[in-house]
Amino acid sequence: MLAHRLIERKRDGGKLDAGEWRALVMAYSAGHVPDYQMSAFLMACFLRGLDRAETAALTDAMLNSGVRFELASLGKPRIDKHSIGGVGDKVSLILAPLVSVLGVAVPMVSGRGLGHTGGTLDKLESISGFRTDLTLAEAREQLEEIGCALMGQTAEVAPADRKMYALRDATATVESIPLIASSIMSKKLAEDLTGLVLDIKRGSGAFLTSFEQEVALAQEMIDLGESHGCPVVAVFTAMDRPLGRACGNALEVEEAIATLKGEGPPDLLDVTLALSAEMLVMAGVARDLDAARADLKQAIASGKAADQFRRIIERQGGDANVLDDPALLPQAAECELFTAQRAGVVQRVEPRAIGRGITALGGGRTTMADAIDPAVGFVITAKPGDWVGTGEPLASVYARDRAGIERGRAALRSAISIGDEAEPPLPLVSHRVTKAGVEALA
Ligand code: URA
Repeated sequence: MLAHRLIERKRDGGKLDAGEWRALVMAYSAGHVPDYQMSAFLMACFLRGLDRAETAALTDAMLNSGVRFELASLGKPRIDKHSIGGVGDKVSLILAPLVSVLGVAVPMVSGRGLGHTGGTLDKLESISGFRTDLTLAEAREQLEEIGCALMGQTAEVAPADRKMYALRDATATVESIPLIASSIMSKKLAEDLTGLVLDIKRGSGAFLTSFEQEVALAQEMIDLGESHGCPVVAVFTAMDRPLGRACGNALEVEEAIATLKGEGPPDLLDVTLALSAEMLVMAGVARDLDAARADLKQAIASGKAADQFRRIIERQGGDANVLDDPALLPQAAECELFTAQRAGVVQRVEPRAIGRGITALGGGRTTMADAIDPAVGFVITAKPGDWVGTGEPLASVYARDRAGIERGRAALRSAISIGDEAEPPLPLVSHRVTKAGVEALA
């Protein structure tokens, strides 16, 4: 009866108070509200929206449906980074060792790839033996020992969000700013962080498609963090083309390792440094962003960041020899170059088409139950603005078999356009949003 009344109220544009949010989320979590009622309720939320107080109440209800880390006794700042999701986005694999070797604990809870975007857990699991299913106790012990743990959302963390997110995914109710903000923050706040940096992707490959929506999402998450004593800074980065060159799980791990050794693509390094520098300043271990960048570059140049990744891989059961020999990562049976059909300027490399191409090769999922092939994907060397001649290489396709190569080529044909005039790409790092407001960086 409770659910019916609340669905009706939301459907008609009314509001729920904090007690009602708590009761509904608890009842759903305990199995007392069926999926069909929660689906109708979520659609009403999607269409009618939630105000700030309701978003906060929903976040608290989901957060309190599970357990939280208690990490204050680490005696260190604890900062995580969350990305809204992109293609070729392997920043977490570089940033977590890099920031944690500079005195900041990084309890990083990541997700799996779904739709056109990749997921950090899938990338890490392409390293033979790497375990991402750490319990909270294991993660805590690892944080004490080496300052970083890379893990998935355990069943104990925000279980109500896990159930509701699966339902939203199946009922076209994901793209709602208050529902996204509360879902992400219910999990992040469970990490007992002293700060959070958000990477908000902009452009055609991003989750949200307008700048106004992205600012609204950042501001909702900043508010939710502030109200729980967790400062949040959002950095806006470009996702109108893939980040770096490698797109596909094992290929991205290889590129992340190269970046940790100072040999990565410049755009990937720039985005990683921008986000990592915010984390160091937020943690109080660097006095400003310039000083933080200098420390980060030094940690790469000295080999300390790569050594920390080695420690993380070993601690989580993975084969750390991949750092010295990336050929130990899963290898695709077939590889073929993709070349330019005409001379001109690369106008676009569409991330969605690349992400869908990875799925067509078997490297991504359309449902959470799908198994993935870690070896397949693309290495795309062409960037918007590059001038190319006919027959010049633009990318390589990595596939299981010939049929995969053909599917990969089709994806590249639809993703990469070459013309006579350049189409200016978005600035790589364009804005910074804090509780004080929006600052343009580019
Ligand atoms: N990621 C989440 O965890 N939740 C959302 O609602 C959207 C993206």
